[in-house]
Amino acid sequence: MIRSKLTGIKPTGGSKNNKPMKFKFILSAIALGILLLSCTESKKETSDIIEIVEVENKFNYLAEQFADIKILRYQVPGFDQLSLQQKKYVYYLTQAGLVGRDIIYDQNYRYNLTIRRAFENVYQNYQGDRNNDDWKNFETYLKRIWFANGIHHHYSNDKFKPEFSQDYLNNLLSATNSSLTGEAFDIIFNDADAKKVNLNPETGLVKGSAINFYSPNVTVKDVDNYYSKIKVAGKTPIEKGLNSKLVKENGIVKEKVWKSGGMYGASIDKIIYWLGKAKEVTENKEQTKGLGLLIKYYQTGDLKTWDEYNIVWATSTTGDIDYINGFIEVYSDPKGYKGTYESVVQIKDFDMSAKMAALANNAQWFEDNSTLIEEHKKKNVVGVTYNTVNVAGEAGDSSPSTPIGINLPNNNWIREQHGSKSVSLGNIIEAYNNSSGSGRLAEFAYDDEEIEYEEKYGQTADKLHTALHEVIGHASGQINEGVGTPKESLKNYASTLEEARADLVGLYYLPDEKLVEIGISPDAKGIGKVAFDGYIRNGLMVQLIRLNLGDDIEEAHMRNRQLVAAWAMEKGANDKVIEKVTKDGKTYFVINDYDQLRTLFGELLREIQRIKSEGDYEAGKALVENYGVKVDLDIHKEVLERNSKFNSAPYGGFINPVLVPSTNEDREIIDIVVIQPESFAIQMMEYAKQYTTLPNEN
Ligand SMILES: [Zn+2]
Repeated sequence: MIRSKLTGIKPTGGSKNNKPMKFKFILSAIALGILLLSCTESKKETSDIIEIVEVENKFNYLAEQFADIKILRYQVPGFDQLSLQQKKYVYYLTQAGLVGRDIIYDQNYRYNLTIRRAFENVYQNYQGDRNNDDWKNFETYLKRIWFANGIHHHYSNDKFKPEFSQDYLNNLLSATNSSLTGEAFDIIFNDADAKKVNLNPETGLVKGSAINFYSPNVTVKDVDNYYSKIKVAGKTPIEKGLNSKLVKENGIVKEKVWKSGGMYGASIDKIIYWLGKAKEVTENKEQTKGLGLLIKYYQTGDLKTWDEYNIVWATSTTGDIDYINGFIEVYSDPKGYKGTYESVVQIKDFDMSAKMAALANNAQWFEDNSTLIEEHKKKNVVGVTYNTVNVAGEAGDSSPSTPIGINLPNNNWIREQHGSKSVSLGNIIEAYNNSSGSGRLAEFAYDDEEIEYEEKYGQTADKLHTALHEVIGHASGQINEGVGTPKESLKNYASTLEEARADLVGLYYLPDEKLVEIGISPDAKGIGKVAFDGYIRNGLMVQLIRLNLGDDIEEAHMRNRQLVAAWAMEKGANDKVIEKVTKDGKTYFVINDYDQLRTLFGELLREIQRIKSEGDYEAGKALVENYGVKVDLDIHKEVLERNSKFNSAPYGGFINPVLVPSTNEDREIIDIVVIQPESFAIQMMEYAKQYTTLPNEN
């Protein structure tokens, strides 16, 4: 449900062990910086801490940059404080995640494993010149594959264009006895399968998408027919189609289910093995029960068991350690059925969690006081929990590019009847924040005041927005009786509209005194100003650095941000609520009236909730297509030009710390320590060695 991916940068080091405890505490305190600032008595303490960190913070967050990517490191605060049993639990769960790693490559595209392995073999064995441009371009291409889990860009979905020739690649392949022939070779250089996920109905949602969820001969009509026949009667529908590939053989459309003994069975058996190890060292009975059901689901592929598992998982909240593992998010399926494989293992961050509970405890107040039409408000907001956790390991679709928050399960009836869990990934956010420079801010902010406020409150405002987006935003509102799920009613616009709705809930409440009253905001006006300035700046300008000139916006969060900003700009045009200003030949979007902008955000929130509640497809489509898709070419050109002097890559992702067990003579684990990998390439080659679980073609 969430998937805000960040871009910042900057690294710090810290393998755990060589740092004194105090240092670790400081880093986690900074990660929670906002909240400390909100307590008056902590203010002095906070500024002291920041000074110490500037002097002592030697952790090297930034591992390297290539293409449009920067690779960061993260620390795992709190790991050393876990008991041995808890450390084992974390370790087994991360192993369960990593052994499924090959699955995401195959899901993303049917030739990804073949290409990756041929390239890795070259990378490992090539004895020729590694200092020329050709080699560097080859290496960059391989790193981009590792980052995107395939040959399509993780964000734009476009196939990578190699900057080396077919002849050069052929030389490398034959010099290393690497096998890459036929279509799998040609695809690197030709125009076929150019987009991983295509959301433009005119070029074909299924036919136009390279994603490996449907065999190439399956049509949109086949998909619609197949799934309309699976009746999900009653009030507890399964997530149909979630864990299978749809194929057509001899004219018959059928599912190849991802389970033990089925498609991806070899990987899944290893996942089951490690989940079984984890099941022996859980913290409580709910976790044991949950893992038992997850294993049963992987054994059978039964989506009812998946629901049973999710109910236990959603209501299991007492341990210090949690995880996600499975085929979960459907963003990569143009039809919205198929889940990509992912895993995240997390350790609770108690301090931050306690503070965020203040928001969850007031969820009903936010619902009652929102701008929604009365009948669209929830009378009882159920099961909203929000926690900050620290990540101990990620795999599959969550790695190297990672979410910064997780809000699951996705099945609506489970969320409504049993609640959901929502977490913010604290150490990941902290690493991003510590890695971003201030040059780009100075370039795109209008004046010194905007910059000062951003520096003072920017991180606080970001964190509060993320929290409001997840805890209040996604939980808010109800769908009218008889109206289908947003996926059915709003179709390919559902994700963008849902993210816009959640963002707007956050924007509407960020300037609210209520946040000060419940102790999580230091300054309603200041936070509101910073959040609005940043949102407009990003939505109308800065986020465009991620696109090539002339491209439409495809990604749901980017569409939503431009939609919200451009809509508010247009609706407030007469009163110059947001004004386009030119200064020294540069364009800025300046907010003249924050109160009125808040009112506009409230109006758009009410309208988008109405669209969701009533399933008004045409209105939803008009909003997204009119405001969220097309890019102003002149602005885009200018933004790219102004951004060109910053060489900081627009996308960031992470290498994982390595959990290293030490054993006694009986080969029992006696301790586990966290160390940082030497480099991105070394970790990726190590993963390829340790976690190869699938054949090239599945
Ligand atoms: Zn969201």
